[in-house]
Amino acid sequence: MLTRSYSASVLGVEGFVVTVEADVGLGLPGLTLVGRASGALMEARERVRSALGHCGHKLHPRKQVVNLAPADERKDSPGIDLAVACALLASHEVVPAERLQGLMLWGELSLDGSLRPAAGTLVIADCARRMGFTSLAVAEASADEAAVLGGLAVLPVRDLPQLVAHLRGDREIGAHAANDPPPRPPRELHDLEDVRGLVLARRAIEVMAAGGHNVLLHGPPGVGKTMLARRAIGLYPPLDDEAALEVTKIFGVAGLRAVDGLVREVPLRAPHHTVSVAGLLGGGPFLRPGEVSLAHRGVLFLDELPEFSRGCLEALREPLEEGVVRIVRARGSVGFPARFQLLAAMNPCPCGFLGHPDRTCVDNPAAVLRYQQRVSGPLLDRIDVAVSVTPARPESCARPTHRSRARRCGPA
Ligand SMILES: [Zn+2]
Repeated sequence: MLTRSYSASVLGVEGFVVTVEADVGLGLPGLTLVGRASGALMEARERVRSALGHCGHKLHPRKQVVNLAPADERKDSPGIDLAVACALLASHEVVPAERLQGLMLWGELSLDGSLRPAAGTLVIADCARRMGFTSLAVAEASADEAAVLGGLAVLPVRDLPQLVAHLRGDREIGAHAANDPPPRPPRELHDLEDVRGLVLARRAIEVMAAGGHNVLLHGPPGVGKTMLARRAIGLYPPLDDEAALEVTKIFGVAGLRAVDGLVREVPLRAPHHTVSVAGLLGGGPFLRPGEVSLAHRGVLFLDELPEFSRGCLEALREPLEEGVVRIVRARGSVGFPARFQLLAAMNPCPCGFLGHPDRTCVDNPAAVLRYQQRVSGPLLDRIDVAVSVTPARPESCARPTHRSRARRCGPA
């Protein structure tokens, strides 16, 4: 008997529907998974078989084929487990096949049949809603995330037996009510109001926030470059609905869950200079977004800019120019949104004290030149504002003579 269930897979930060077809027929006993399931998904076969066994549903000793369509797209999320199990249960007539229509299934099975959340639930919920599904079954822990968008009946599933009872009509699972999170007290975001001295650098940060520019601060260590970067975020208004959805989807695919609801704060990402190209740009075996995408609609702060690998610095050019990162795979490429503002900081020389009023630089001129040339011209061309940050003089810190003119860009 041929049966179908529906799940989805994530490509970049968008989802696409995966139709899971299960067929039980004549042939040597065994369970075969076809349809460009990646290596990671081949493990689904073992998980599903074990989960079904633990829940008292032994597969018939016959040839079982599960096909994941469309066959030309790679699927690698364990979130498909639940749909594979349900298609098999329907082909064994444990659950009625017609109950699987209009229902999207998303969750990873553990061997005992309980359901685990899978990364990217918000992307899947968005896909299900757009593709006209009426309900979405997810792990209990993902229900809040799935219900954020509305427009879908979200079924929180604890384990496989509970879902089987629901599909057979024995005990219905109630739809998860979209949980309006209690309004959180606004996080204490510092802006530049209480920064004394550093007039030029402060102005550069304000220009960055107001005009969407990329900024480079250079100056000796300890003058407050990092402190300024952390406070830059306080100048931005909260994300609007569209931006919040984009950012939350990227966080979800990266496996970082929003605490509740959509991410509303402008993201600030500050990767260490030892980050790999895949960590910065995205990629890896499971195609996760990198730091540039996690900084989408926000600020990417790169401290010690010349210390980043040449590969990382060169790779920044594409997202800075186009607002997107394309990761080329053996078959086709995947795009991740990466429209961020770059805030970079660097020392003027390897020791950091070139031009310092009180300290002496110990580097020879060739070393200084080499250090500065690590940041290539094409990258510098994309930086609109570069300012020197000099140590604040004690007299300029005595009292706030220069109140920051920073104004929040959005509604007060
Ligand atoms: Zn030096």
